[in-house]
Amino acid sequence: MAEATVEKHEFQAEIKQLLDIVVHSLYTDKEIFIRELVSNASDALEKMRHLQKVEKEIFDDKLELEINITTDDKANTITFQDFGVGMNKAELIENLGTIAHSGSKAFLKALKEKEGISENLIGQFGVGFYSAFMVASRVSVFTHSWDNNGEHLLWTSDGSGNFEIETMEGQRRGCKIIVHLNDDNKEYSGADKVKEILNRYSKYVPFPVNLNGEKINSIEALWLKQKRSIKKDEYIEFYKFQTNTSEDPASWIHFNADVPLAINAILFVPSENPERWGFGRIDPEVGLYCKKVLIDAKPDGLLPEWLRFLKGVVDSADLPLNISRETMQDSALVQKLNKVLTKRFLKYLKDEAKKNPEKYNEFYKKFGSYLKEGITMDFDHKDQLSKLLLYESSLTEKDKTTSLADYVSRMKEGQNDIYYIYAKNRKFIESGPYLEAFKARNLEALFLYEPVDEFVMSHLREFDGKKLVSADQADLELEDIADSSEGEPLEEEKAKALTEWIKGHFGDKVSSVEMSKRLVGSPAIALNSDKFMTSGMRSIMKAMNQEVEGNPTVKLELNTRHPLIKNISDLKDTNKELAELVVDQLYDNALISAGFLEDPRNIVDRVYKILERVSEK
Ligand code: ADP
Ligand code: MG
Repeated sequence: MAEATVEKHEFQAEIKQLLDIVVHSLYTDKEIFIRELVSNASDALEKMRHLQKVEKEIFDDKLELEINITTDDKANTITFQDFGVGMNKAELIENLGTIAHSGSKAFLKALKEKEGISENLIGQFGVGFYSAFMVASRVSVFTHSWDNNGEHLLWTSDGSGNFEIETMEGQRRGCKIIVHLNDDNKEYSGADKVKEILNRYSKYVPFPVNLNGEKINSIEALWLKQKRSIKKDEYIEFYKFQTNTSEDPASWIHFNADVPLAINAILFVPSENPERWGFGRIDPEVGLYCKKVLIDAKPDGLLPEWLRFLKGVVDSADLPLNISRETMQDSALVQKLNKVLTKRFLKYLKDEAKKNPEKYNEFYKKFGSYLKEGITMDFDHKDQLSKLLLYESSLTEKDKTTSLADYVSRMKEGQNDIYYIYAKNRKFIESGPYLEAFKARNLEALFLYEPVDEFVMSHLREFDGKKLVSADQADLELEDIADSSEGEPLEEEKAKALTEWIKGHFGDKVSSVEMSKRLVGSPAIALNSDKFMTSGMRSIMKAMNQEVEGNPTVKLELNTRHPLIKNISDLKDTNKELAELVVDQLYDNALISAGFLEDPRNIVDRVYKILERVSEK
């Protein structure tokens, strides 16, 4: 007889950390370990179903694809056995000893990046296999891989720092996981308790689940049923099963079509957007099925990138079952599905925006950034997406928004363009130099608060045939409203002399200096003469840690009726030095208001100098 060898392994550092969190602090909701282990068993069976189609040699080939759960309240154990793919030794070490796999990895990443994230968000990540250690003093995994070359193995751990692997003859294909319950959690060895939990979690497991020999689920493919026959709660339960979370979805659409393609799909909008909280890019999670059989849980190319926040299922009877994950993106059929699904979802959003504006607003707050991404990345859908945009404007109250179409419907006689102003927030815009010109002319301006919005505008260029025009663009033409403003303008000759003198003083720092038609209250305004380097673009560059050197070259417009401008006109001849200090300050102020100032070092010194002069007797 061969000598029994027990190999001791240490968990990867990240796993130790994860185990520590899971065991000690995280969940009050311990029963989820049942959901996690059943979901792993179900995944292993899905993989098996696939392999059976492509592999000839399979270990223990005659076994049913099912999950058997047994409870033993004498031994205080609960056991999960599946006849799925199982694991060989290398896989055991990799999958149950390192953080290489999906669920836990995302979870730990989230934990690292966000301190004090809410329980709510934690619920969005499965902690997976390790959740068993919330209730266990020891976990044993008996396994044999589907591969004939695999070993007969036993993996055990008490969840502290190590696990052991030894050879254990006589294993069936798949995994048998015995959870030895600790003293505080003996209740999970009671059949009634476990049955109640399984009834909640296992309804949509696509394989038979047996508890102590009795089948307890009816395998349903909710998406193939008639919409009318499905209750709201069933969708919610299905969502929770599908996403392995305890959260309700925010909304969903379910559609069945036969032409041009056979499609049965349910698309869910989740209640939260993890990317919004800085958790990094999420993977698409709309599974692709053919006649109830899962082809790929996270297929690439089934939906456009900007719809990656959706969850759910898409089933098409037209798909060839043997379609491989590699060829999927190239498949004409998958591309067609993509088209149809995107169209349906966009139509749904359009209808929602109209029929349930408040609910749509909620959606937009959380997921609007994806729609904006779509506008900049997805040429085919950008026009439809532009109709879904919402912005505050000079005519809305704070936190109230308007669509571009509504803006257009309010445009004045003779107004050809749609105007927008970008700044950090409403306060900045309202106290900034741009808005006054629009207000004075009764023109509405959209308020953009995120750098990406300027990007969106420059991608769209126009909406409904109207140009989208930024308020800080130098070539923006606004009608002269001289009559309605106060004060006499500077005489034409003096004005000319002043602008030339200032241009001479600044040289290349300004593209031009002109008397302004647009200004109402401020003495001067800096306009962007660089169409690419908008202030939003500057913020994006800075956010990406790109060097943004110096102030941009701007066009300086002066308010010809402003007393300060009139004074400088004289001052330049009587006290050139002070006049220069004043226009330097004027220039910096204009840059600050416009969000362009990169180098504020000189300001304070200069202001002292000016104060010194004006305080001279
Ligand atoms: P996830 O399911 O998100 O990948 P888990 O922590 O739940 O993360 O599981 C880790 C890995 O262990 C799985 O990805 C899988 O490779 C392996 N595994 C877990 N349970 C089983 C099982 N019953 N059969 C085969 N492999 C399993
Ligand atoms: Mg899992």
